[in-house]
Amino acid sequence: MQKVIVTGGTGYIGSHTAVALQNARYQVIILDNLSNSDTDSLDGIQRITGTKPEFIKLDCTNKDDMRCAFEKHRDAVGVIHFAALKAVGESVEKPLLYYRNNLGALINVLDMMQEFKIPCLVFSSSATVYGVPEQLPVTEDTPLQPATSPYGQTKVIGENIITDTVRANPQIQATLLRYFNPIGAHPSAEIGEKPNGVPNNLMPYICQAAAGIREYLNVFGNDYDTPDGFCIRDYIDINDLANAHVAALKHMQSGKHGINVFNLGTGRGQSVMELIQAFEGATGVKVPYKLSPRRTGDVPAIYANADRAEKILKWRANVPLNETLASAWRWQQKILKLK
Ligand code: NAD
Ligand code: UDP
Repeated sequence: MQKVIVTGGTGYIGSHTAVALQNARYQVIILDNLSNSDTDSLDGIQRITGTKPEFIKLDCTNKDDMRCAFEKHRDAVGVIHFAALKAVGESVEKPLLYYRNNLGALINVLDMMQEFKIPCLVFSSSATVYGVPEQLPVTEDTPLQPATSPYGQTKVIGENIITDTVRANPQIQATLLRYFNPIGAHPSAEIGEKPNGVPNNLMPYICQAAAGIREYLNVFGNDYDTPDGFCIRDYIDINDLANAHVAALKHMQSGKHGINVFNLGTGRGQSVMELIQAFEGATGVKVPYKLSPRRTGDVPAIYANADRAEKILKWRANVPLNETLASAWRWQQKILKLK
């Protein structure tokens, strides 16, 4: 079996990707410092796939620990690099923490790939690199805008660091995946998103408000220049997103492709209110909400043109929104029971 090193693999997107990789018969080695996750996800992955990935607890910013792990798995065919801090607001308050963690970890990953001649990298980028786009939907060629937070900057700079490294080391190829808004959980409810404290993101907040953990959802802004006045995003099922990582890896293994960039979205924009209504329709559960002022830094509307991923990776988002929302709710009910 071919080995893949997955940094940040006990986290939300990493754990679903580990399932997708194992289903595609890859051997998964997870490196994570558990700063925003726990090892329960390893048990969940095992219950879904029958196999528990190897887990090495380490901080990717620690080069000696990284070298030990990569030395042990020097025959890996690729690295999928998820490990990063991702709270936008926190990144504004603690920029150095974000630059050190997200860029330090990435530089170590690239160093190790060079040292051990590991040929393929998949990097978690984000739609945040497009800032406030001038045209919708955004393609990969839509000009990038200055990032509005240090977190966003780590994605822009991260993409640049990888591009320069691949240019200088043609034996390495890389795929930059720009995620739109991943939501939902594995249909089995064995793994899902576990936000720490009060959620920043809409989907976990909707679930917690529906479950009565939060009194109500604050809907940020109803006066945007959009059809219903609410912000628009492209919400993509987490399992679809996970499968794209396998497709990206396989594509790199099929030839020499240098650097590739793909948007991962559904191609459909959904307003906050539409998502609330779709959630209520899919689950039969009411979401208490209040209209609130705009949240600073929010982009009014963004959604993907994901044609390139369809054409080159033969990947596209498939899971219907109501199934995704039902999976998010099943997972919410399950974690309530565990508490
Ligand atoms: P997550 O917090 O659930 O997973 C990230 C994992 O990385 C966590 O398990 C955390 O413990 C680990 N980690 C962080 N710093 C580390 C370090 N220095 N060493 C080792 N492990 C470390 O987040 P996620 O939602 O799964 O996000 C995965 C990646 O996707 C991140 O790079 C994130 O920026 C990116 N991304 C996420 C979203 C989203 O909406 N979830 C959108 C765009 C991009
Ligand atoms: N949002 C909201 N209430 C919340 C959290 C988010 O109305 O408690 C809105 C937010 O303004 C944005 C959308 O939901 O329009 C998605 O926000 P999220 O933080 O999930 O993702 P991002 O801003 O990164 O696209």
